Amino acid sequence: MKDYSSYITDKEKEHEALCKRCGACCGALNDPCIHLQKDKQGKYFCDTYDNRTREHNTISGETFRCVDIRSIIYKEWKGKENCEYFLKLKEPSIDHSP
Ligand code: SF4
Ligand code: SF4
Repeated sequence: MKDYSSYITDKEKEHEALCKRCGACCGALNDPCIHLQKDKQGKYFCDTYDNRTREHNTISGETFRCVDIRSIIYKEWKGKENCEYFLKLKEPSIDHSP
């Protein structure tokens, strides 16, 4: 039987795996965060992921505070309609995993 901490770790991995790395929550479709990078497969990643929860600048020089996707999922932002977490909230019974 699994212990509680490995259960939580597995759940966190499962949750993170939902993200298709479209970059929309980091401004990929309008004014991206300076830490948003693209890999060879065309997927986005954050170059400061472990220290992301703080103030950053966008490419145009705007300052904003990076927050967890759970904090913005009920707000409006460009590309949200295709975010896997938003889609899962809308239709939790559908498997949106890659
Ligand atoms: S710092 Fe935040 S907004 Fe910027 S790329 Fe990383 S996760 Fe996205
Ligand atoms: S918008 Fe959603 S699916 Fe796209 S990178 Fe952000 S969390 Fe992942």
